[in-house]
Amino acid sequence: MPDLKTTPAQTDFLPEIHGQNLRRKTRRSFEQYQRARRTLAGGVSSGMRRNARPYPLAYDDGTGSQVFDIDGNAYLDYGLAWGPLILGHSHPAVVEAIQRQAARALTFGAQHELEYQVAELLTGIIPCADLVCFANSGTEIIQVALRLTRAATGRRKFLKFEGHYHGWSDEALIAYHPKATDELEKPAPVGAGQLPNNQVVVAEWNNPAHVEQVLDRHGSEISAIICEPLLANSGCIPAAPGFLEYLREKATACGALLIFDEVITGFRVDLAGAQGRWGVTPDLATYAKAVGGGVPLSVLAGRSEYMDLIARGDVVHAGTLNGNPLCLAAAKAAIEVLAAGNGSLYPALRARGERLRHGIEQALRTAGFPVVTSGDGPVFQVSFMCDPASSYRDMLRADASLYSNFALALLDLGVLVLPDGRWYVSAAHSDNDIEQTLQIVQSICSAGRT
Ligand code: PMP
Repeated sequence: MPDLKTTPAQTDFLPEIHGQNLRRKTRRSFEQYQRARRTLAGGVSSGMRRNARPYPLAYDDGTGSQVFDIDGNAYLDYGLAWGPLILGHSHPAVVEAIQRQAARALTFGAQHELEYQVAELLTGIIPCADLVCFANSGTEIIQVALRLTRAATGRRKFLKFEGHYHGWSDEALIAYHPKATDELEKPAPVGAGQLPNNQVVVAEWNNPAHVEQVLDRHGSEISAIICEPLLANSGCIPAAPGFLEYLREKATACGALLIFDEVITGFRVDLAGAQGRWGVTPDLATYAKAVGGGVPLSVLAGRSEYMDLIARGDVVHAGTLNGNPLCLAAAKAAIEVLAAGNGSLYPALRARGERLRHGIEQALRTAGFPVVTSGDGPVFQVSFMCDPASSYRDMLRADASLYSNFALALLDLGVLVLPDGRWYVSAAHSDNDIEQTLQIVQSICSAGRT
């Protein structure tokens, strides 16, 4: 293997050439973006999409592992709408379920049979689920989860880990991606207008000594320990062996509830999510992406002793479109496909994710780039850095602008990835898709070196 290059040149991955090519072949996207900005704030519907290069592209079609932009360019899609499309685009069973339901009724604001049918499916799959409740986004369902833990314990604070993302509510959007100079223990609100949150205490991921210290100081005031059981939002950093078990034990010992935010891991790393994959059962778990297969659905699952607070109406959980039949019809179809044969599609999904991840790593390393990959099967991260990360601050060593050039080159050659280094693989990706992607990566490595 050649020496790893530690100071990449500005021109690595030829951003000028790929940027020009893309601007040439995505003119309609550019025009649409300009038009949208005149009436739609920022021209995008989520702030996370604002900084796309060369500009946010517009899409009008998707099928299986491919998505098509409005200029007619096709991309192998490893962004998968930021995760929900576990079955790929427009899986026929999901589309048919939506069409069938749409012809009958869009929403009732009242009870219907899909509610208990999906609840029965979920409680049969998710280890911590005696009861579930529904909402429409991850942000909302985490708000319910945190409220529930306060009601159950009579305590106000919660412990979160730096770099973990739990939605964009005032209380949860904190200590997400702070700068190296920000103090871990004095987290500031992320954006303007957010209320200051003095009810959160922050610990370092994978650092039991630090968790211990924080709990020594605040343990008796903490209602919940919340985490992404695989830190997917900051480098796909797995929990170190024993760390999830440690959190389980510590939460119980200090009288707090353990929440797994399974918005990304749920129905992705295993049919039973992180709980199934790593064998640790939290008190509550939240779901929002793959669980709906591409429609707005979020789920809180938990032990009856806590969920009963919602059942009795002590904890308020409301929402006009909660449990609407359109989304539940789609989710039921998606979960049935995922659960068929007790999750028999997962081994192949995992194997494809691993083949892709290791192929990318090998190609980049052989070309001399310092690269680290991490994650679990169908969700992983590619980072330009020398050593693996064990917590958020380690990720600050990654070369984000080099990755951004790599992503731009991939886009030009027909591979769509998220801007932050995360890759998602769906059950619709074939071996052929993976091999084709690896050939493209190889060609970028050969051409893009200066
Ligand atoms: N938790 C995690 C782990 C997430 O990744 C996200 C979204 N990326 C959320 C919560 C928030 O979900 P939503 O965007 O549906 O509000």
